[in-house]
Amino acid sequence: MSERERLRDWAFQLDSEWGLRHVGKCIICGEMSLDSPSEDEAREWCLNHARATGDDHFELFGIQYGSALFREPLSVNGTSPT
Ligand SMILES: [Zn+2]
Repeated sequence: MSERERLRDWAFQLDSEWGLRHVGKCIICGEMSLDSPSEDEAREWCLNHARATGDDHFELFGIQYGSALFREPLSVNGTSPT
């Protein structure tokens, strides 16, 4: 790793285009729904899964997508930007 790469400062940026996504997960068998922008859709997946399998315990959670972006340091030997 070069000196330049070592000095990179990483920043986390949420992907605002996706927003908060909802996922349903069956605790019994571990199957998960696709993530959806709608919480109702995640609940509906749970009900459909229950009808299909008889499994009756679920976990609902929200997820967000993001990216780690690197930014070049303003100054190599200057003060910390934070
Ligand atoms: Zn299941």
